[in-house]
Amino acid sequence: MALIETRALKAFYGDFQALFGVDIVFEQGETVAIIGANGAGKTTLMRSIAGVLRNDPGAILYRDEPIGALAAPAVMGRGIAMVPEGRRLFPSLSVEENLLVGNYGRKVAGPWTLETVYGLFPILKERRHKPSTALSGGQQQMVAIGRALMSNPDVLLCDEISLGLAPVVVRDIYAAFPRIRETGAAIVVVEQDIAQALKVADRVYCMMEGRITLTGKPQDLHRDAIHTAYFGAD
Ligand code: ATP
Repeated sequence: MALIETRALKAFYGDFQALFGVDIVFEQGETVAIIGANGAGKTTLMRSIAGVLRNDPGAILYRDEPIGALAAPAVMGRGIAMVPEGRRLFPSLSVEENLLVGNYGRKVAGPWTLETVYGLFPILKERRHKPSTALSGGQQQMVAIGRALMSNPDVLLCDEISLGLAPVVVRDIYAAFPRIRETGAAIVVVEQDIAQALKVADRVYCMMEGRITLTGKPQDLHRDAIHTAYFGAD
């Protein structure tokens, strides 16, 4: 049984169609990267799975159960957490309070607590009483990831976590991923940085104009095929 499956998933913003029948499968414990250019539909796919955009019930299955029509809090309650594009921290709350917010929706025991999140990102412990706005962009991204982990998710959806960050900061953030994987969670990363995506993922999906154009394991994907799937044929 797949952990998450979408079946002919469509998404609309008013009359504008952003997804045209997307079929993806995420298996337990795997790390999947979704790549694609600006506007390809990656964020829309994440928002659909997370329940921010509602859909037909059967368009999204979680452990074979239809969840496409559930609202975001219900989806999170089942164990799917999202690190949203732009981080969306609460500016008036401290680092620690932002982390604790992640724990409200889903009170299940699991590997992630304040202490283990601080173990993953020690700088956050040092700065735990600071307002989140006092942190660097990379540190804020760590808070956003930590906040999502606090719900002890089975699936962690990460939307463009490297956007706008220096390469060395991106490297520090991705250095935490093996420990997240060890907990058995599936990780989905949306990335415009193809090299980063290929490095971290067991499997890659490429999107263009609201459709999946390529899928495979990084080692099986040819550069030219990725280029065509990402940018279209010349
Ligand atoms: P990006 O890297 O820019 O986030 P993306 O691959 O995540 O790109 P989406 O943000 O999912 O792409 O956008 C897919 C399409 O839907 C684009 O054409 C975009 O303009 C459109 N779109 C996204 N959000 C909205 C919205 N709130 N209202 C109308 N159209 C939208």
